[in-house]
Amino acid sequence: MIDIPALVSKFRGCACGSPHECAIGAVRVESGLQHRAGEALREAGFPRKVLVLGDKAGFGAAPGVVPSLEKAGFEPKLVEYGSLRVARMEDVRRVEAALESGEAEGVVAVGTGSSHDPCRLACARRNAPLALFATAASMDGFASYSAPIVDGVFKTTHPAKCPDVILADTAVMAKAPAALKSAGFGDMMAKYVALVDWRVSHLVSGESLCENVAGLVREAADRIFALAPRVLAEDEESAAAVFDALLLTGVAMSFTKTSRPGSGTEHILAHFWECMELTEGKTPNFHGTDVGVATLLVMRRYEKFAEAASIRARRETPDWDSIYREYGPLAPDVRRLNTPDTIVDGIDPAALERAWPEIRAIVRSVPSADEIERAMRTAGCACTPDEIGKSPEFVEKAMRLHPYMRRRLSLMRLSKLFA
Ligand SMILES: [Zn+2]
Ligand SMILES: [Zn+2]
Repeated sequence: MIDIPALVSKFRGCACGSPHECAIGAVRVESGLQHRAGEALREAGFPRKVLVLGDKAGFGAAPGVVPSLEKAGFEPKLVEYGSLRVARMEDVRRVEAALESGEAEGVVAVGTGSSHDPCRLACARRNAPLALFATAASMDGFASYSAPIVDGVFKTTHPAKCPDVILADTAVMAKAPAALKSAGFGDMMAKYVALVDWRVSHLVSGESLCENVAGLVREAADRIFALAPRVLAEDEESAAAVFDALLLTGVAMSFTKTSRPGSGTEHILAHFWECMELTEGKTPNFHGTDVGVATLLVMRRYEKFAEAASIRARRETPDWDSIYREYGPLAPDVRRLNTPDTIVDGIDPAALERAWPEIRAIVRSVPSADEIERAMRTAGCACTPDEIGKSPEFVEKAMRLHPYMRRRLSLMRLSKLFA
């Protein structure tokens, strides 16, 4: 099991100069932990009145959590959603209201990503203790400081609170649906693109990069990569190993207080899909399912770029009117992200040309798209847009437009400067 205090002390006084903090007080990954959740929270000093939020799937997977809280003397107030696949601002406000009124003094989120996200933001805003009970190793955001929340039709990543306590029951996770396990694997394959984008941005724009944090993410991604044949197994040891590696990435993200180490342009591409589908009233796929396919699309594109021995670059001259037209209802948010300046305005095209040999080497420093796809197939992941219900036209549009919807420099965003 991952030893957070040891990891934090290893990163103390890191050569990069930034303080790598992680506020997680306790992590417990154990078999049958759902029946001892109350006990674990009492030990962690949780307040008596707790809001317990989750959806049917989350509570159904770990029915022992609430009774164990009651047994340990807590007064749980339940908020149960039918299905919480997308965390919205109104969900955040609901949790905030309970904390504000004194109805609850702490929050326990049961389930996977979407039930954790509103709690993460609400507890940050109200400075309330937060515990996550993970029911599946489906994504890497457990330890993160940020929460993706949909407000209106736009999904934004908000700085939020890293949980005080993370609990995971290996028996519950082992029995999680295959689709969720594969999604967790897909989310981890994204780290290879994320690392490429981070390194390229560091090289070209001088964005800060910590080698030790990047190394931690790489180690976690490689570990999961090697676990591909075990991902779908219904055994607790595999579930624990996958969860551990996911958690490690989360800790890396908490060390930089941004999602940068674990989220590059492939996450923006998946966000584009998700936001567009939300505007059409569609229910998005699991986060990691879309992210995995996005990873393959981006890696293939990057490999194509890297075939060129040199490039010519120029300042970009986008046709913003037509870009915003294509963004439809999302246009005002995208415009805000690109006015008065854009993320590439300060990039010298000549510097990009000079950096090209190093950029090629960065692209080749991670496993190839073919290797990643083989591992993803083994782990039961969908690998093509068709398999996740996206048309070729939708994919083409998303590949072209997504780099504008976030102020995060990536090789994809820089490719808009290629002559
Ligand atoms: Zn560092
Ligand atoms: Zn992710």
